Amino acid sequence: MEILQVDKSRILYPANEEKTAALLCKIVKKNDQLMLESWGLNTPDNLCILIMNSWQEYLDYAPPKNWQLIIKILSPILYQRFERIWPLIGGWEQRFGTRRTVGLKPPELLVKSKTNIGEEIFITINDSYVKFQLNACHELTHAYSAHLNLPSWLKEGIAMVSADRYIKRQTVKQSTLNKLGETASTNNPRTYRKIHVTNPGELIYFYICSYWATRLIEETQPGLIKSLLAKRLSHKEFETQLSAAYNVDLTEFWNRTNQLAIIQFQEV
Ligand SMILES: [Zn+2]
Repeated sequence: MEILQVDKSRILYPANEEKTAALLCKIVKKNDQLMLESWGLNTPDNLCILIMNSWQEYLDYAPPKNWQLIIKILSPILYQRFERIWPLIGGWEQRFGTRRTVGLKPPELLVKSKTNIGEEIFITINDSYVKFQLNACHELTHAYSAHLNLPSWLKEGIAMVSADRYIKRQTVKQSTLNKLGETASTNNPRTYRKIHVTNPGELIYFYICSYWATRLIEETQPGLIKSLLAKRLSHKEFETQLSAAYNVDLTEFWNRTNQLAIIQFQEV
């Protein structure tokens, strides 16, 4: 693995990915500014970003040395999980103690990912290098906000809105707005603690609600999310403050934000 240092962040990459690593340097710099301006988030102290050709490569190089034994012990569970999600993802973000890591598939592998769920949510992008940038921005947003332990919907919402801002256009299909009017098949997104990757309908609904709610809050109460991200709050405190800002009961928050998002963003 080759190493590049960009300010506080370290990039690890296989020797044949020099071009992607150079692009990643630019992404990290641009993203640093975006994170600070949009959300008041600073670059983490111990961030390692890895361009990975396989999940094995990620596990070999991303975690700190003293994690290797734990990883070995957990390997039967870990390997199964990574093997299962590998074909579906463009990247991921994981924490190992104080080290935050982001693993990113290089552009040529991204185009081979099975993105059925992504196709339902995101506008198709054929340029694999643009796709790589958006994936990087999304996963980096997770890494920059990891210490806050955000509610899942807000964690994903700010990552999706960041990607929009990175590319300066909407990356989510406008037609997904229509889905907000549909009743959720199970729980509403507020109650999600873990996303169930095995249920595609649930997953798509979750991402769509997360995105439009975050967009709504950003447009109707600019700076509110940024001010809430200034300190670590419990999930309940976050959602109580947000519902108070919209003058609704916490139990009504999702119905209300869905309705408001439809009004706010519907194209006439
Ligand atoms: Zn995400």
